[in-house]
Amino acid sequence: MIKKDGHTHTQFSHHGSEEKLDQYIEYAIELGFKEYVVTEHAPLPSQFFQEFVGPKDAQINSAMTNAELPIYREEVKRVQKKYKNNIMIKAGLEVDYLQKYESQTREFLQENKDWIDEIVLSVHFLPNSSSDIVPIDYDPETLSNYFMRECREPKKLFERYYEAVSQSVQFDTGLLDTTIRIGHLTLIRKYQKLLNLPKFDIGISDKILNILQDIKRKNYQLDFNAAGFSKPYNGESYPTFEIAESAKKIGIPLIYGSDAHNVAALGLHFDEMNNFIENI
Ligand SMILES: [Zn+2]
Ligand SMILES: [Zn+2]
Repeated sequence: MIKKDGHTHTQFSHHGSEEKLDQYIEYAIELGFKEYVVTEHAPLPSQFFQEFVGPKDAQINSAMTNAELPIYREEVKRVQKKYKNNIMIKAGLEVDYLQKYESQTREFLQENKDWIDEIVLSVHFLPNSSSDIVPIDYDPETLSNYFMRECREPKKLFERYYEAVSQSVQFDTGLLDTTIRIGHLTLIRKYQKLLNLPKFDIGISDKILNILQDIKRKNYQLDFNAAGFSKPYNGESYPTFEIAESAKKIGIPLIYGSDAHNVAALGLHFDEMNNFIENI
């Protein structure tokens, strides 16, 4: 298997470092990566911001703006050319799945499909019981304040999350030949140690297996994301090794993703995760 990082960010994240894309690429080359997908957060639908609740900072810093998109595109093009003899760089986006904005998202993807090679499709926002749309991975306080009832009864939180993930897989992107990966399938566990989240019970595990079957049917891939290892309250990959194993067994390609928001995060845990996958 070629050494590939399928999920990386840039300075356009607004919540990562200001390091230049060139620095990321040069470090990836140094680490021996042969393929690198730049997957910055795609701009969010403008109406979405009116419904968003949670910290102001999370709202502003969740994604690129529409004005930045063409600059990002040019940046990726520039490094593709600059490093073409050293590494294969692909143009990608991390796209939010938002149930209420499916048509806007599809429209956005149609407008940009010609230059996008690969997409990471992710759930970062969930409606809570008051139908507010809340970020689940911004900080533990936001999650526990807006999902108070669900956090007391984590099965409800898991159900809400996997319902959205399931819808994200069903979602008709309208894309025909763009590679699509489902992002960090266990992100809801990001603060598991702090919130004392239990293991998934049989009901949730079955739901996840159904989602994997849908991923397989859609010919999607799975983002095998290293970021959780470095999060103080998580300590695992997204998804966990157990789920990754089930995915591999049904033939879903797992693609390593550092989800790096700074240069130093590139390549972390690659060997451990890659060895695990190769030895199933
Ligand atoms: Zn993400
Ligand atoms: Zn990401």
